[in-house]
Amino acid sequence: MNFIDLHKLSNKRLEALQTSGINSVNDLLHLFPRRYLDKSNIKPIGLLSGQPEPVSVVGTITELNVAGAGRKRRLMMTVEDQTGSMKAVWFKGLKYVMSRFKEGNLVSLFGKPKRFGKLISMAHPDMELLESTSEIKKFDTLLPVYPSNQHLSKAYISNKIISGWIKQILAHKEIREFLPESTLEKYKFPARKSAFQMIHFPKSKSEASTALERFKYEELFLFELSMGRIKKIQRSRKNSTPLTPGGYTKKFFNEILPFQLTEGQKNALSEIRDDLSTDIQMNRLIQGDVGAGKTVVAIGAMLMAADSGYQSAFMAPTEILAEQHYFTLKKYLEPLGINFRLLLGGQKKALRREILADISSGNCNIVVGTHAIIQESVEFNRLGLAVIDEQHRFGVRQRNEILQKGDQPHLLVMSATPIPRSLAMTIYSDLDISVIKDLPGGRKPIKTAVRTDKDRETINNFIAESVGDGGQVYVVYPLIEESEVLDLKDATMGFEKLKRRFPEIPIGLLHGQMKQEEKEGVMRSFIEGKLKILVTTTVIEVGVDVSNASVMIVEHAERFGLSQLHQLRGRIGRGTRQSYCILMAGGKLSESGRFRLKKMVETTDGFEIAEADLRLRGPGDFLGTKQSGLPEFRYADIIEDRLLLEQAKNDAWQIIRNDPELSNTEHKNLKNIFEPYFQEKTELFGVG
Ligand code: ADP
Ligand code: MG
Repeated sequence: MNFIDLHKLSNKRLEALQTSGINSVNDLLHLFPRRYLDKSNIKPIGLLSGQPEPVSVVGTITELNVAGAGRKRRLMMTVEDQTGSMKAVWFKGLKYVMSRFKEGNLVSLFGKPKRFGKLISMAHPDMELLESTSEIKKFDTLLPVYPSNQHLSKAYISNKIISGWIKQILAHKEIREFLPESTLEKYKFPARKSAFQMIHFPKSKSEASTALERFKYEELFLFELSMGRIKKIQRSRKNSTPLTPGGYTKKFFNEILPFQLTEGQKNALSEIRDDLSTDIQMNRLIQGDVGAGKTVVAIGAMLMAADSGYQSAFMAPTEILAEQHYFTLKKYLEPLGINFRLLLGGQKKALRREILADISSGNCNIVVGTHAIIQESVEFNRLGLAVIDEQHRFGVRQRNEILQKGDQPHLLVMSATPIPRSLAMTIYSDLDISVIKDLPGGRKPIKTAVRTDKDRETINNFIAESVGDGGQVYVVYPLIEESEVLDLKDATMGFEKLKRRFPEIPIGLLHGQMKQEEKEGVMRSFIEGKLKILVTTTVIEVGVDVSNASVMIVEHAERFGLSQLHQLRGRIGRGTRQSYCILMAGGKLSESGRFRLKKMVETTDGFEIAEADLRLRGPGDFLGTKQSGLPEFRYADIIEDRLLLEQAKNDAWQIIRNDPELSNTEHKNLKNIFEPYFQEKTELFGVG
C-alpha cells in the first residue's frame, strides 16, 4: 500500500478505500468517473424544483444582505433570471463572497437547489462572475462523479476529495506508456498519462470518451495477448493421445443412429476427428442453437475415445440434463456394450463408491454427470476426452479442473448461447469453433401464439386433443428467485387444477425443491411417455429433450426474458409433429413485456432473438457475464465494443506471431506489464 503521495489520509479513510477495493495509488487512478456533471448545462430558475443533483443557474444579483446574528448569521443573495428568482445562502466565508460580488453582477451559480415552500435556495454554491451568459463555457465545466458507496461517504470521501487526490497523483507519479508507438498512432490514442488526465479532468465529454476508448482497448488488448499466448502454448503441447474412430464409432453411425446427420453435424464431427487424430490437444467449441443436435456430435467424439481405449467425461450443468444425457447414452450405447456411468452429487455412498471404483479402474468408458465429476475424489484411469455441455454455465476454472483429471485430455465444449460468430471467435479465441447452423430436417417450425386467461377453456381442449393424439405437453411456470415458495405454489396449484380437469391423463410435477430421486423419477416417466403432461418450473430450461412433446404452455410468459423463452421453446419442436408454443400473458403488460411476446411470435431464429434481447436488456445483463464463463472487463463491454475487441485481437495476435516473447525494444514496457498479467491469467487457465 503506497499512499505516501497523499497527505493527511486518516486511518478511517484508508480503511474506507480498502473496503472499496482501492489499495493503491494505481487503483485510485483506475477509479474512473461514472459520469460528469456539466456545469454549462444551465437551468432556468423558474424550472427549479429541488433537484437531487447540482445544477447551473445564470442570473443577476438583485439583493445581497447579511441576516441574523451569532451562529445564525448568514449571507443571503437573491439572483434573478427572466423566469424567476432564487436565494443563495452562506453561513461561512461571508466576507469573501461580499468582497467579490455586488448587486447588479451577472453570475453563474452551481449547486444543489432546495425548495422551501415557494422559495428555491442553494447553500454555498460555486460562483463565477460573468461578462455575458455564454462565458460560462470558459470555466472547468465538467465535474467528475466517482462511483461511491456507504464506506466512502461515511469517511467523507467526496468527489471533490477524490479529484484532489488524483490531481496530486497525476502531478507526482510517473506513468509509463506500454502500448506500442504504432498502436497509438494507428488509433490516435492519447498517451497513457494524458489519457488519465483526460478521463479525470476532461475539457469536454468527447475528450473523456477518447480517453476511455484507449483504456478499453488496453484491457482488451492485454486479454487478447494472453489468449494468443495460451493458444500458442496449446498448439505446442504435443502430449495428448491421438484418438481415432474404430468399431464402436462405425457401428454407432452406420447401424444404431436412427437418422441422417445434418451437414453442420457432419462438419463438426469431421473437424473433431481431425483434431483428435493428432497429439496436439483439441480445444474446440461446438456452437449450435437449441435443438441443433449437439449431443450426437459429443457422442461421436466420445466413441472415438472409446475406440482408442480412452475414457471420456461428459459434464452438464444440471442433474436433470446429466440424467437426460445418461438416458440418451443408454438408448444408443447399450447395444454397443460400452460401459458408462452417471455421477451426481447426491448419490448414496455405496453406489458412489462403486462408480468411483469403476472410473478409476478404467472399466467405465464414459462418465456423464454434473460438476460432481470434477470433485477431488474422482480419479480417472485414462481420461482422453472431456466434453462440457452448455459451457456458458460453467466458468473457465471448471473447464480447467476437468482437464486436470487426465494427462492433457482433449477438450470439447458445447454452447447454445447464440452470439455472432465473429464475437465468439474473439472472446473464445483460445478455442477453435465449429458452428452447427442447420436444424435437423423434417421439423416443422413451431407455431407460437399469445393467449390470456379467457382462452383457458380452448387451451384445455387443445391439451386434451394433443394428448389424445399421442403428444405430450409442457406447462411451465416462472421461477421467481426471491420467492421460491410462492413460485412453487403457482406451479403446484396449476398442477392440481390440471389434475382435476383431466383426471384420466397422467400428469407430473417437477420443480427445483424436489428430492433428486423424485425429480429423476418424474423426468424419466415423462421421457418414457408415461406422463403426458409435465407441469414444471424453469428447471426444465436447459437442454432437456423429449421429441414427442409438441405443446408448451408458458404461464406468466411476460415474466421471462427473451433468451429464456427461446431456450424454453427449444424443448419442443424436436420431433416430426407440428409443435405449438402458447404464451400466457396475465394482467397488464409492460411495453417491454409486449415486445418480448411479439418477438417470440415473429421469429424462431436464436440469433435474431438474442440480438433483440441484447437491445432490450443491455449487454451486461444479457450475457449474465458472471455465470456465462465469459471474460469480465472493467471498462469494455464485449458486445458494445466488439469492433474494438476485434481490432485488439488482430493487433495482439500479430504481435504473438512476430514477437512472441516481447523481446523487441518496442515491446519492452509492454512486457513489463504483460508478464505479471499473464501469470495471473495462466493460473486461471492452467497453462504454462
Ligand atoms: P441440442 O443441440 O440442443 O443439445 P439435442 O442434441 O438435444 O440438441 O438434439 C435435439 C433432438 O434432435 C434430439 O431428440 C435428437 O435426437 C434429435 N436430432 C439430433 N440430430 C438429428 C438429426 N440429424 N436428424 C434428426 N433428429 C436429430
Ligand atoms: Mg443440448
